[in-house]
Amino acid sequence: MRRTNLTLREFNALFPDEDAARTWFERARWPDGPTCYHCGVVNEARRIESRGIWRCRACGRQFSVTAGTPMHKTHLPLLTWAQAIYLIVSSSKGISSMKLSEMLGLPYSTAWHLSHRIRAMMAEDSPLLAGVVEIDETYGDAPPRKRAKSRRDDDGPPPSDPTGRGTKRPLLLVAAERDGDVFTSIIPTHGRKAISEALQGVLDASAVVMTDGLPAYKHLRKDRAHLAVNHSQRKYARTDEATGRRVHVNRVESFNGFLGRAVVGVFHFVSPKHLGRYAGEAAFCWNRKKSSCLDRMVSLIRNGEGRMLPCDFLTAAA
Ligand SMILES: [Zn+2]
Repeated sequence: MRRTNLTLREFNALFPDEDAARTWFERARWPDGPTCYHCGVVNEARRIESRGIWRCRACGRQFSVTAGTPMHKTHLPLLTWAQAIYLIVSSSKGISSMKLSEMLGLPYSTAWHLSHRIRAMMAEDSPLLAGVVEIDETYGDAPPRKRAKSRRDDDGPPPSDPTGRGTKRPLLLVAAERDGDVFTSIIPTHGRKAISEALQGVLDASAVVMTDGLPAYKHLRKDRAHLAVNHSQRKYARTDEATGRRVHVNRVESFNGFLGRAVVGVFHFVSPKHLGRYAGEAAFCWNRKKSSCLDRMVSLIRNGEGRMLPCDFLTAAA
């Protein structure tokens, strides 16, 4: 079996100090040589060793390996970034900001900003999903605690289901190739319009879509093959007579369970404002389950290109 993890001893050998961390970040981001942040010229820059930055020979301006990424103008050592990235991508369901703060010896607020910036680097452009694509929705937060039924409830109207469809909990639409990648998108409602907009440009014309029996999915039949299983009749898998295909949504429900366990077991609380980044982290890890830890780290650095995240965006009220 191929080993995909990176031991702590191997990590420390790879990142012994700040200079080694900077060199690693530069090689990961610029495989073809330093690329000027200002004019885009490749491999035409001179390193200013004393300041850890580069001067472009074409435009004369200076730039660093963090420019234009969520690490832009960071005050933290790159070695700390490397340690945080390693801890996050090597954890099967992520790591909380509190834990990161304890392990790296950072104030909680610093660890919180660090982890959200790393999550921003995990965000990916919408993939084009093909083949059998299972689609389902899931709530992105921890379910409300069950409360003991009081006597008062017996007299009043039946309480609405706090966990089912129709609540105001933050919603995610999840589309998963049966043998490949997943895609997540925050949606405002379970309605047809919201689902249709979230799937814009995500499905290949040849994709065969499989869903549960939610009526909002029926419109997908207009443009492509759509097969459904009716969960309300306790049917979870069937064989379609016309095509012989096995119809179920087990793959997407498996991802939803993975995300739910991360939210409940690791993060405990996910605000609607930041839900997209937590879901993006889960999708990034899910899509790279077979990649090595180092490959995941390099993917993350390359994904960060152009994804600057201003501090006031992170902390402003939703
Ligand atoms: Zn330049």
